[in-house]
Amino acid sequence: MKILLLLASFLLIFNFNSIAQRHCGSTEYAKLNPSVSYREISGNTFNAAARDTFSNEVITIPVVVHILYNTSAQNISDAQVRSQLKALNDDFRRMNSDAGNTPAAFKPFAADTRIEFCLAQVTPQGKPGSGIIRKYTNKTGFSLDDAMKFSASGGDDAWDTKSYLNIWVCNFSGQALGYASFPGGQADKDGVVIQYDVFGTTSKVRPVFNKGRTTTHEVGHWLGLKHIWGDNSCGNDGIDDTPQQSGNNYNCPSFPRMSSCSPNANGDMFMNFMDYTNDDCMNLFTGGQAKKIRSQFALNGKRNSFLNSVKCDSSMLESGGVLPTQPETKPVTAPQNKPVAGVQIYPNPVNQYLNLVAINGFELSGKFITLSNASGSVVMQKRIVSNTEKINLSSVNAGIYILTVTDGKDKKVLKLIKM
Ligand SMILES: [Zn+2]
Repeated sequence: MKILLLLASFLLIFNFNSIAQRHCGSTEYAKLNPSVSYREISGNTFNAAARDTFSNEVITIPVVVHILYNTSAQNISDAQVRSQLKALNDDFRRMNSDAGNTPAAFKPFAADTRIEFCLAQVTPQGKPGSGIIRKYTNKTGFSLDDAMKFSASGGDDAWDTKSYLNIWVCNFSGQALGYASFPGGQADKDGVVIQYDVFGTTSKVRPVFNKGRTTTHEVGHWLGLKHIWGDNSCGNDGIDDTPQQSGNNYNCPSFPRMSSCSPNANGDMFMNFMDYTNDDCMNLFTGGQAKKIRSQFALNGKRNSFLNSVKCDSSMLESGGVLPTQPETKPVTAPQNKPVAGVQIYPNPVNQYLNLVAINGFELSGKFITLSNASGSVVMQKRIVSNTEKINLSSVNAGIYILTVTDGKDKKVLKLIKM
């Protein structure tokens, strides 16, 4: 009896450990799909004007979350989804509240990647949306076979993966908490899969994965990062400022955690988002990882198309470029069905001549327009003398611009793409 009890408790402990330790399926997925995960995209099928990143540009990635549920528990709340977006933004901008836990020896390497995420406000059809899709599935669990990415197999089809980061949240059977496709993979399978109860920081998330770091880790893969130990004993992750370590770390070691190939007394960077430690143990990306991530957005980078994705911006709805309210303006107090004064611009994207038209009583005449590029530099300023104006933009380089119309009191801000 004693032996049986001992055996039972051993099995319990073993089972508990296998659940409570982080496992990520991305490496296995890449091995299962070598031609998918690392394949070069042939040809440039992206029509909008490509451009390089600006040095300090903050890149915003529109996200669509596909919630696939078989039970009500799997149908996670909007609040849980939003808490994950906040965690992603905090972690990638190094605004995470536990950034102070990075050991002093590693603090000089910690970096703000200048990548942000938003729930998409515009659907691929140009309709308003919340960036959250809920869909019942008769599948009780999903695996690495990508079934969750296709409606035909109980999942939900990806939105255009050149403009949206697709995240499928579902019951992901097995040990792994999630997996990601690496940049350059097959378009309709591109994105990140996350187990529903480790997504976000509120509601139904389970310890010890309740700080949203599974998604931070998987999005790190989606942006080209490897595991910090290079998926080999004393392997190489291709990043200069992450120390070599013999393997992954589980749970939360104490600093310094030495391993057989530690280059110095600081040992493993086990608190890096690309290790396997618990959520409340992780707290940084490095400058080298930030550089690698940002290289995906450069000209010819696999994620370059996101520089032209404006799916976070509801002014890009198919009805036209009307943008009545902006964060900079005062809240609209008028009833919602009352037309709001504003500026309409067309065409957008624009090749040469941009038309500005005042609508619903807005006074355009006498205001100044300022055209700024994504890094905030002003490329054009002009005083408007009538309520309809045609501006020649042929001398402006291709890219995304912010157009501000103001007289110092009233201000309208619009996003503009120059082809
Ligand atoms: Zn991983």
